[in-house]
Amino acid sequence: MTSIAERLQLVKQRLLCAEASAGRTPGSVTLVAVSKTQPTSCIREAWDAGQRHFGESYLQEALAKQAELAGLDLIWHFIGPIQSNKTRLIAGHFEWVHGVDRLKIAERLNEQRPENLPPLNVCLQVNISDEASKSGVSLAELPALAEQVVRLPGLKLRGLMAIPEPGGGMDRQRIPFRRLRLALEALHAPGMDTLSMGMSDDLEAAVMEGATLVRIGSAIFGARPVRM
Ligand SMILES: *Cc1c(COP(=O)(O)O)cnc(C)c1O
Repeated sequence: MTSIAERLQLVKQRLLCAEASAGRTPGSVTLVAVSKTQPTSCIREAWDAGQRHFGESYLQEALAKQAELAGLDLIWHFIGPIQSNKTRLIAGHFEWVHGVDRLKIAERLNEQRPENLPPLNVCLQVNISDEASKSGVSLAELPALAEQVVRLPGLKLRGLMAIPEPGGGMDRQRIPFRRLRLALEALHAPGMDTLSMGMSDDLEAAVMEGATLVRIGSAIFGARPVRM
């Protein structure tokens, strides 16, 4: 069996290759290891191998792991859907939140961000396939939302995030990522420096289109255990 350290190394090599093909600086893409449903022991193994950014989707599970790993210098990203009754704990226990897609959620996170902590880094989740069923703000409504969120002092609006439909080859995978990059460029907001896009199966396409942060789960930790 391949160890987490070995798989992490392989993912980093994939990133370096993609950065090279895209003509981008080696190591310029931040790797967030998505540890949802994985036990704390796996996070510790990745930490031992040098990994510092971790992404979690389920709040209660994440809080339990954070308590267990309290001594380690981890940077926690909340990447799951955000219900309004969860915002207080998210605002207090994470450095990044990637799935903000409504003003109400942003306002709650802003009000509830503890004053002793720096502003919460936020990415707006964009629905780049424009399917009514999926979460994410529409491209049409994005500029208005960004304009409101950027004014909230407890938040630092860092950029955009998307989860496109899986599948397809490189050429097809690049299309939604390109759409997200163009949406960020169109906002002309200098402080927004982050494109959170790319997962285990499409990280190369995402890096080719300018991803600055990829969220990688199964390629590092293996298949996810079924959630209890
Ligand atoms: C689970 C998850 C990932 C990681 O997916 P993999 O395909 O395992 O790399 C990335 N982003 C989000 C929002 C997720 O929920």
